[in-house]
Amino acid sequence: MKKTALMFFPAFDWSLGSTHPEREERLLYTQEQLFEEGVMDLPQIVQLNPIVAPLKAVCRTQAIFPSSEEQDLEAHRIAAGSALVMGDAWARQEIHNGFALVRPPGHHAGAVVWGNRGFCTLNNEAILINHLRSQYGYRKIAVVDTDVHHGDGTQNIFWHDPNVLFISLHQDGRTLYPGSGFVDELGGVNAWGQTLNIPMPPGTGDDGYLYMLEHWVLPKLQEFQPDVVINSAGQDNHYSDPLARMNVSARGYGQITELVRPDIAVLEGGYSIETALPYVNLAILLALAGEDYSQVQEPSNRRHTDVSLKDFKQYYQDLRAKQESQRVTWDKERVKHLLNQEWAHEDYSVYYDTEGFQETRQEYVRPCAYCGGTVVIMSKVRLHSDVCVLVRIPFLACETCRRTGLDVWQSLSERSQESHRYGSILLQNQADDDIRLWKRYEGVTKF
Ligand SMILES: [Zn+2]
Ligand SMILES: [Zn+2]
Repeated sequence: MKKTALMFFPAFDWSLGSTHPEREERLLYTQEQLFEEGVMDLPQIVQLNPIVAPLKAVCRTQAIFPSSEEQDLEAHRIAAGSALVMGDAWARQEIHNGFALVRPPGHHAGAVVWGNRGFCTLNNEAILINHLRSQYGYRKIAVVDTDVHHGDGTQNIFWHDPNVLFISLHQDGRTLYPGSGFVDELGGVNAWGQTLNIPMPPGTGDDGYLYMLEHWVLPKLQEFQPDVVINSAGQDNHYSDPLARMNVSARGYGQITELVRPDIAVLEGGYSIETALPYVNLAILLALAGEDYSQVQEPSNRRHTDVSLKDFKQYYQDLRAKQESQRVTWDKERVKHLLNQEWAHEDYSVYYDTEGFQETRQEYVRPCAYCGGTVVIMSKVRLHSDVCVLVRIPFLACETCRRTGLDVWQSLSERSQESHRYGSILLQNQADDDIRLWKRYEGVTKF
C-alpha cells in the first residue's frame, strides 16, 4: 500500500508574540480536526517524528550571518529537520508522499540570513531540496509554492540554479507582502526561465486558481520532468484568511494538491486558525492519501467577490503575453570584475520586517554555459559594520566554476586574515559537499 506520511511540529514554545498571526496555537485545531475525523486511523497514514536539522544541512543552503550561534534557530531547525526526515523516508521509498505540518514557516528566508523576515528564518523546503541532492543525487527538483505570498526567499536561493524549477502562484505583489513575484522575474543569467511567477488578482477563487494550474503550471512541470516535486503549501489563499484577499476554499486546496501531485508538501502560511487551517489541511492530506475530500466543508461563508472566469482568462492571456515579451536580461546586468574574473553583477537590498532592518547585497555570478555558475554574495547590515561573504559553488559545477569558487574563497579568507576586512566568509561548496565558515579571530570551522 502507498503510504502517506504526516508530521507534526507545532512549536508550542516558539512565537513572535501572543497576538501575532504566526502564533503557537496555529496547528492546534488542525491536530484536533485530523484526530476527530479519524484520519490517523487510515491504514495508509504513517506519522513521522521530527529531528533537529544538522547545521551542515542548513549552511549548505543558507548563509547564517554573522554566525549560526548568534541567532535563535532552535524551533526553525526542528521545522527544517521535519522536512529532512520526510525527505529521507521518501527517498528510501518508505512513503509515497507526505505532508510536514510544521511551523515556523520558511519561504521568505533567502540565501543570506541576518534575522527573521515574513515570520521566516530558515527555508525548510530549500534545505530539504539541497539535502535530497547531496545525499541521494537527485538532479532536477521542482518547487510549487501555493502560499498566497510570493516565495521570495526560495526564489532568491535558487535564482541562479538551472536544475531547480521554482514556480510561485500568489496574490499580486502590488497588493500584498513582500511586494515581489512579477512575471518578469524569470531567473538569473544561467537559469533564465527556471523561475516562474504567477501573480493573481485579489479575489481569485477556486476556478481561477485551478485554471492557472492547468494552463500554465502543469505544462511547465511536464516540460521540466523533475525527479522530485515539493509543494510549499501555504493556506492563506483561503477566503477567511485575515492577512490576504483571495477566495480559495478547502476543497479548492484539495483539488490543487490533486493536480500538483507533490511528493512532499511542507506547510507555509495560513492564519485563519480555526475556520480554515483545520479544513484546508484535512483536504490536502486526504488528497495526498488518495481519499475523497469532496465532503470537507469549512464552517464559514465566502467573504470576497470572486473574479469571474471570463475576466480571469483574459488576465491570464495578458500575463502570458507580457512574460513572453521578456528577453534574457543578463546583458543588461552590469558586468564587474572580481579577482580578475568577469561576473554578472547586481546590487539589491532585503528588508527584515520582523526586526526592522535592511541588508544590502552585492551579488556576483559567473556566467557559464556548462553549469549554474559560482555565486559570490557580499552582504552587510546597517547596524553591523562587517561585510560577510557567501561563496557558493553549485551542485554539478563545471571544473572552471569550481576552481574559481575555491580561489575566491581562499583569496578572500587569506586577505581577511591580515586586513580584518570581512566578518565571516561561508564556503558553500555544494559540488563537493564541503561547507566551511571562516570567522575573524576564530579561523575555519568545517561543518
Ligand atoms: Zn503566506
Ligand atoms: Zn560553470
